[in-house]
Amino acid sequence: MSDTTDTIFGKIIRREAPAEIVYEDDLCLAFKDIHPQAPVHILLIPKKAIAQLADAESQDHALMGHLLLTAKRVAEQVGLSNGYRIVINNGPDGGQTVYHLHLHILGGRPMQWPPG
Ligand code: AMP
Repeated sequence: MSDTTDTIFGKIIRREAPAEIVYEDDLCLAFKDIHPQAPVHILLIPKKAIAQLADAESQDHALMGHLLLTAKRVAEQVGLSNGYRIVINNGPDGGQTVYHLHLHILGGRPMQWPPG
């Protein structure tokens, strides 16, 4: 399955591109970011190809909740017991570069605030 909404993350879901996968279930997939911005940097994506958070609809209500709870679960799984940051970049001003919705799970060092 490939369409105009396809991205590198779609290829990772279909195992057409490599990734270090750390978690998978029926609805989502988590893998290590190829350019980590912290000692731990994992991306969590829905298998459904939603381009960005702004495109999520009311029918995605349960999926959105599942993603947030799964981010917590993955953070625990990889040992981020001292805390972590969840980031969703949305659109050009949000700094989004890959148009398949993803949550960044960042940890392993103290995070700065405000972000750039
Ligand atoms: P964003 O800027 O929020 O769209 O984040 C996209 C993220 O995807 C960046 O942190 C990239 O380093 C990461 N990325 C891009 N291609 C890959 C890939 N093939 N495998 C893992 N991470 C990737």
